[in-house]
Amino acid sequence: MDFQNRVGSKHRSGGVASFSESNVDRRERLRKLAMETIDIAKDPYFMKNHLGSYECKLCLTLHTSEGSYLAHTQGKKHQTNLARRAAKEAKENNIIQTAVGPAKPLVAPRRNIIKIGRPGYRVTKVRDPVTRQLGFLFQIQYPQIAEDVIPRHRFMGAYEQKVEAPNNAYQYLIVAAEPYESIAFKIQSQKVDETPGKFWTHWDQDSKQFSLQFFFKNEKNGMFEGMTAPAMAPPPTATV
Ligand SMILES: [Zn+2]
Repeated sequence: MDFQNRVGSKHRSGGVASFSESNVDRRERLRKLAMETIDIAKDPYFMKNHLGSYECKLCLTLHTSEGSYLAHTQGKKHQTNLARRAAKEAKENNIIQTAVGPAKPLVAPRRNIIKIGRPGYRVTKVRDPVTRQLGFLFQIQYPQIAEDVIPRHRFMGAYEQKVEAPNNAYQYLIVAAEPYESIAFKIQSQKVDETPGKFWTHWDQDSKQFSLQFFFKNEKNGMFEGMTAPAMAPPPTATV
């Protein structure tokens, strides 16, 4: 029973008529009052339970009759809960609208890979014995490479990369193989000779070593001294 909402008690001091109003009369009056504004059949909070009494699903109160329930709906507790519910639903609707509104992903899709650090590598300066072209041999070790992964590479222009301030004098060779971090070699921005046989890559599945060798196009002589590749430590006897 919802004793808090025994609506009507305050009316007893109103006048002679209401003072003598019986409990049944009072309920009937409130029921009629409620009927003017509420269609109980459409009330989502009205429920007849299996014991034959009535419940307000909003306030979780028990009522012995429809009249009692209807009187309750006019009370402060029910009205306050209605207002709270309305505010809550408005807020939830707003959240849902925001979520389905703009077709903008809230979180960028990310690949589910835990990086395990940089691979070991060796860089060797090479020279074509015939054409005297200069180049590099890269050998990168991937002992813990993921299954079915083959290292990938690509050249990247100075303005394409976002790690360093762009400098037209350089380009970058990027090598990637999950779950290792991708690594970049900064090399001079001279054209790479893509003639078959001059440029090659090799992935050795057994030793887990990725090799890549290329030569620069022979545009001018004496480039060997100018060749710079930070983070590389080419051995002095590396020429082929
Ligand atoms: Zn209620």
